[in-house]
Amino acid sequence: MPGLSRLAVTRLVTSAFAWSSSGRTNDDLVTNLVRDRRLKLPAVEAALRRVDRKTFVLPAERGAAYDDRPLGIGYSATISAPHMHAAALEFLAPSIAEKGSVLDVGCGSGYLLAAFAALGPGVRAHGVEYVPQLAKMADENLRAHDASLLESGRVTVTVGDGWAGLPERAPFDAIHVGAAARSVPKALITQLAPGGVMIIPVGPAGGAQELLRVDKAADGSVSARTLFGVRYVPLVGGDKDEV
Ligand code: SAH
Repeated sequence: MPGLSRLAVTRLVTSAFAWSSSGRTNDDLVTNLVRDRRLKLPAVEAALRRVDRKTFVLPAERGAAYDDRPLGIGYSATISAPHMHAAALEFLAPSIAEKGSVLDVGCGSGYLLAAFAALGPGVRAHGVEYVPQLAKMADENLRAHDASLLESGRVTVTVGDGWAGLPERAPFDAIHVGAAARSVPKALITQLAPGGVMIIPVGPAGGAQELLRVDKAADGSVSARTLFGVRYVPLVGGDKDEV
């Protein structure tokens, strides 16, 4: 396709898929993701069937809860499109297995925390969110989904700056970052356990961003590779996190 970068082609393909599916129930949503080959791992499929996306969207958006597209949740944030959540879960599920610990930076609606927890009864999912009102919303949504997750401490939501990670809960077998960083925050690399995987969008606000997969090997060495082009809201702050 002359004149189009690979990134642009990826975006076109992504958006063509992203807007094509719309369901009437959460099961429809998941079935559409499987049909469109956006979702392949049975463990992730089972987890997504256990988490009703409607519980995590604003009341005004409930009619669109089962569409495969991002929806506004206030404060310039969105609950990501289901195919992006599915992709992140598929990259991270193998390192979480059924009893790992995961950090979700910019947990917004709280949806992914519920989805991570649904991967297995031993999974612990910790969210850090910059906007206190959104952290409160995540807490309320999670309570409506399954209050025992918060009461047992398997899922936590902390107001804080994701550039610093969550040192009190580290290390993490998996880290998901839900907002685009200018560079990979150093603290997150430190807090990734050996054998752990981090998925993070990197790039300028509103510009060409790419989803990176960062692996920390058993010997502690770190490698990163680009997965595909994406568009996320910015991970605010981080001015002192020199590369
Ligand atoms: N993944 C979530 C939300 C994605 S929107 C969901 O699907 O619901 C990105 C979120 O990152 C927003 O809630 C925003 O407030 C948060 N955020 C932005 N910068 C942050 C930072 N430095 N630390 C923590 N959270 C941040």
